[in-house]
Formats: sequence, structure tokens, C-alpha cells
Amino acid sequence: RRDRGLALVLTTHDRGVVSRGADGGAFMMAGRAVETRAAATLADAAHPYTRALLAARPRRRPLRGPRPRLAEITGRVPLPGEVISGCAFADRCAAMTALCRRQAPETQRLGDAGVACHHPFAPRREVALP
Ligand code: SF4
Repeated sequence: RRDRGLALVLTTHDRGVVSRGADGGAFMMAGRAVETRAAATLADAAHPYTRALLAARPRRRPLRGPRPRLAEITGRVPLPGEVISGCAFADRCAAMTALCRRQAPETQRLGDAGVACHHPFAPRREVALP
């Protein structure tokens, strides 16, 4: 790729592959890139979905005790072709507000990243669904 000046697009669920071998990554959800950023700043992810994905990666098994349970992203995944008003992650997002339900978020620039979220970096909180 480097020798020929080509781009290579690789689809993976393995963060290590992105960290070690890519210049950057686009995190996809429901057919949309919800966060794009340089590989070197993956740990600074701002979108709640990206952060949840990164938190769900397997951990090394401890020498003693039970294997830690993998973190999950609970809730319903949108069906292929489903028409979604508002943010496609709203049903599963702890930072969801009424604005998220009403309006799909535009992508905004945050440093080197592009993030499609109304409340990037929002602290996790419990939200009663309407
Ligand atoms: S737009 Fe709202 S529901 Fe969607 S990821 Fe951001 S905070 Fe969560």
C-alpha cells in the first residue's frame, strides 16, 4: 500500500488491527460512520457507541479468579432497512435525550475526529425511555 500509494479499507471488529496497522478508523453503526478518527487517538473516542464498543473488548484473563464478563451493549439493534427518525443508537444509549429522538445528529468536528452525536463525551446516566 505504501509503496504504491494506495488506500486499503479493512473491515474488522479487532481494535488491535486498527491500532497497529491503520492510519485511522471509521466506526460504523446502522450503515453510517458515527465516528472517524486517527488510529493514535482511538482511546479518546467521543461517540457513546464507539466508547461502548471499545469498552466491550475482551480483557486478558486474570491469573486467579473467574474470567471477567464482557461488557455488553444492551437494547435493540435497528433492523436492516428500518426507517429511523433521530439517532439510530437512541434505544441503547444511556446519554439519550429528547433531541436524540427528534433529530438525527450531524457529524461535527472534534479535534482530528468527526463525531455524529448530539452529546459527545456525555457522562453515562440512566434515562427513562418515553
Ligand atoms: S445522539 Fe444522543 S442517542 Fe445518539 S449517541 Fe449521541 S447521545 Fe446517544
